Amino acid sequence: MQYPEPIAKLIDSFMKLPGIGPKTAVRLAFFVINMREDDVMEFARALVNAKRKLIHCSICQNISDHDPCYICDDSSRDRSLICVVQEPKDVVAMEKMRDYRGLYHVLHGAISPVDGIGPEDIKVTELIRRLEDEEVKEIILATNPTIEGEATAMYLSRLIKPIGVKTSRIAHGLPVGGDLEYADEVTLSKALEGRREI
Ligand SMILES: [Zn+2]
Repeated sequence: MQYPEPIAKLIDSFMKLPGIGPKTAVRLAFFVINMREDDVMEFARALVNAKRKLIHCSICQNISDHDPCYICDDSSRDRSLICVVQEPKDVVAMEKMRDYRGLYHVLHGAISPVDGIGPEDIKVTELIRRLEDEEVKEIILATNPTIEGEATAMYLSRLIKPIGVKTSRIAHGLPVGGDLEYADEVTLSKALEGRREI
């Protein structure tokens, strides 16, 4: 049996989302047609607004509904520090911690030669431009502890050091509450590398 066209279209739309296979798409499509009309309208509006109203902050490149974003615009933040992250959700994670009072720079990706992603495909030029304009003293490289994230951190560190700005890499190590014996080799080796005096 073929689904009526409006449902088939809805199923196709859900299948464009990451991690949604045909079965889940059908389940979600039927869930939507059984929702109250008001809720469906609100859902549709949220989708369109998220796309239309969000822009990239012209300073840090994070997604925002204001330019500059509220972090770049906050005069109480330490403008000598920039924490470089891969994705907007990483900024949210850092902000939840409440310990960091510097600024951010969102790369929107990481260098990955295998996938054909080079420095020119992420927001590197925008970062270097900030080093010329602002009173930046330190760049904290907080890209992910993956091959791509490490390669990106290494690339940026080599690029930035000659400009005379200090670069540091966040330490990667053992999760709090974790057990040494269950840690994988890479995590353990990173934890050892990032050790500090106590
Ligand atoms: Zn910003």
